[in-house]
Amino acid sequence: MADARRLLILGGTGEARTVAESAAQMPGLAVTTSLAGRTRAPTAPEGELRSGGFGGANGLAGWLRHDATDAMIDATHPFAAEISRNAADACAALGVPRLVLCRPPWRAQEGDRWIEADTPAEAADALAGNARRVFLSIGSGAIEAFSHLADIQFLVRMVDAPETPLPLNDYSVVTGRGPFETAAETQLLRDHRIDHVVSRNSGGEATYAKIEAARTLALPVVMLRRPPPVAGETVETVDAALNWLNELT
Ligand code: NAP
Repeated sequence: MADARRLLILGGTGEARTVAESAAQMPGLAVTTSLAGRTRAPTAPEGELRSGGFGGANGLAGWLRHDATDAMIDATHPFAAEISRNAADACAALGVPRLVLCRPPWRAQEGDRWIEADTPAEAADALAGNARRVFLSIGSGAIEAFSHLADIQFLVRMVDAPETPLPLNDYSVVTGRGPFETAAETQLLRDHRIDHVVSRNSGGEATYAKIEAARTLALPVVMLRRPPPVAGETVETVDAALNWLNELT
């Protein structure tokens, strides 16, 4: 493999794992996936795995140089804006070809009762005075924004149980990792007598069941809009990312 071309996949999503699976079969290509290292037992991707932050755009550029990376696919979550920005800067500085793989957002359809918000703080404002029992499924970093809503009971879904108490007055935690089923999600919302769902507009199928469940129960969904997309060549599907890779190698 001395002359293998080197691909870095920025991961943390199902799409990143699927790209790694196929890319690892391509002859003459050495594949490394990078994870932030936040989840306790991540599903191991095909190829090499590295874990933990790089130390900003400069740290990432240093890593790319040291690894002699030939190409990058940024397949991080649509809400992971910081790493995508760093990836754009680092690749631009070194002239490393970079592709963004980003699934399309969900679109509201008939029966959906979405209240769209641009920030977690705006989402919290939408709940204040209206909600009593809320299903919060937005990633641990955004929970703080709901801490002042002392009279709301929260059901918080997380991949791993938190190691320290959450900054909420009244809450319980349910752990789980997608894909989720609509019937089970509907039951969960019913069992906990949820009256509002808060979600990120993640797109994709793995976590869409809660949106379908909310529609079934005619519940309002406070939907966080995505941060602005990072600049650069972008595709929406794993197949398109693999085509890009084929043309490059
Ligand atoms: P973020 O805000 O964009 O990233 C914060 C910092 O975490 C980055 O500056 C970087 O640290 C490090 N980091 C993030 N992704 C990394 C990766 N793939 N490899 C190495 N370091 C990484 O991202 P986030 O929203 O915290 O998400 C963290 C990871 O979880 C992402 O990889 C994402 O794909 C995955 N994920 C996120 C969500 C979500 O809802 N946001 C959902 C599912 C999965 P340094 O600056 O030190 O390099």
